[in-house]
Amino acid sequence: MGAGPGAADLLTLRAATVLRAAQIVLHDDLVPQEILDLCPASAQVINVGKRCGRHGRSQEQINALMVWHAREAESPTIVRLKSGDPAVFGRLGEELDALRRAGVEFEIIPGVTAASAAAASAKITLTDRRAASSLVVVTAHNCRNASLSQTVEPARSTYALYMPGPDYSKTVQGLLESGHEPKTPCAVVSNAGRANEEVRYLTLHELKSANGISAPAVLIVGEVAAEHLSREDGDLLSKVSSEARNSYLHDRFPIYPVLG
Ligand code: SAH
Repeated sequence: MGAGPGAADLLTLRAATVLRAAQIVLHDDLVPQEILDLCPASAQVINVGKRCGRHGRSQEQINALMVWHAREAESPTIVRLKSGDPAVFGRLGEELDALRRAGVEFEIIPGVTAASAAAASAKITLTDRRAASSLVVVTAHNCRNASLSQTVEPARSTYALYMPGPDYSKTVQGLLESGHEPKTPCAVVSNAGRANEEVRYLTLHELKSANGISAPAVLIVGEVAAEHLSREDGDLLSKVSSEARNSYLHDRFPIYPVLG
């Protein structure tokens, strides 16, 4: 779950609903107390952050803790709470790997990422149809000690294309011309976060001739989309994730059995 940039009222309503039903919350340092106060008094709220100068848990320990709690509790709502959006520099990838390996079902609840909050505070826009048609989100720190110029190379970047349709073949052609391989994995997500969301996992080559993709959609291009490239898995996962969301609306959160 994303906690947003730090102001409690920039938390999403979905996140607040789930937090109010949480039994176990594993949170990072940057999450404000006001948000933690939404958890029921009976919830176990554990700081797993690793701020400098304080002894924190390793990523492996956090992964193990998530899986352990998911297996221990009978019908739990376990929340892993991170600042901003969990999918932006939040080590989400490692945690998803651990959950998938352990067969623990999950839902990701997005949050307002720091770049959006910062632009709002600075009263500037991140894109501008007159001046900036792409937004690059990049970290100056990474675990490979790569330089900034190596970090922004296309093969190691994720591209999120807004307004990618209706002519997907033209969009794909542009991406191929800019140096992407036809086998590059991508995910095209229509109506993200809504009851009628649709997720398709395919390669750029497959996307070129795909049809029936509803608008509005975002196209995510890059290795991060490889996890679900088999169409069968993709269909199954997107179905389960809608079910999981519906169960939140009814104040239940079942842990689904191992998929596939
Ligand atoms: N998942 C988070 C980012 C985690 S990395 C997100 O989506 O925002 C932590 C970095 O995020 C910080 O070092 C800082 O660069 C940035 N950050 C987080 N909260 C911020 C805030 N309220 N204002 C400015 N920068 C912030």
